[in-house]
Amino acid sequence: MKRFLSITILSLLAINGFSQTQIIAHRGYWDTLGSARNSLSSLNNAIDLGVYGSELDVWLTKDGALVINHDDDYEGVVIRTATYKQVSALRLVNGEPLPTLQQYIEIVKKQNATKLIVEIKPHHSTESDVRAANAVVKAINESGQADLVDYISFSEAICNELIRLHPKHRVAYLNGEKSPEELKAAGYWGLDYYWEVLREKHPEWIKEAKALGLTTNVWTVNRLEQMQYFISQGIDFITTDNPQLLRGLVNEK
Ligand code: MG
Repeated sequence: MKRFLSITILSLLAINGFSQTQIIAHRGYWDTLGSARNSLSSLNNAIDLGVYGSELDVWLTKDGALVINHDDDYEGVVIRTATYKQVSALRLVNGEPLPTLQQYIEIVKKQNATKLIVEIKPHHSTESDVRAANAVVKAINESGQADLVDYISFSEAICNELIRLHPKHRVAYLNGEKSPEELKAAGYWGLDYYWEVLREKHPEWIKEAKALGLTTNVWTVNRLEQMQYFISQGIDFITTDNPQLLRGLVNEK
């Protein structure tokens, strides 16, 4: 009887979570044959899977191109100090060139279900951060696809600039040290924190954020038990390298 009750309670918690939590594919849905992290292929896979969002990392080259890559450098070429010509010679593990933000936008605009979760990388000075934020916003606004973009960053300067440029920009902070009250006061849309922050250091922040009307997102959650935990907390988004596993847990269209 006791066991039956606990299973029933767990199921109810899970059903409650089903209607809320949405999936974000971390650097796209890249863990498939012929794909690569932060590739056009990984974006197409995420769209095919029908997830809420496909995350990507973007850098501004010194000559003004917006290039998708996770790290500061790729094969020794530092993106923010390179020219686009230097970057365009590089190849991902699946043979694709490093994509541009423009190429991502061209793909995402052909549908209206999956969003781009655009992470603007810290560019090592406030001035460069502000320049990168402005370049990204300009490209997205000119494409007419602003509705399909949410912004995230570890850089406070980038987030502040995004909020300053338009208070309606959906901006979530990644760095994990700001309380929900601080984020709300600064005009953020939400928080997007490392799982340890939201499960071990500040398990109260999910509820606090929700009470303030902030969105809640957690990274990078790849294990089933972690997914179940955060779903049971009613988190809005889970960012994962394993979107197909999470897809089995949540009920999306
Ligand atoms: Mg990222």
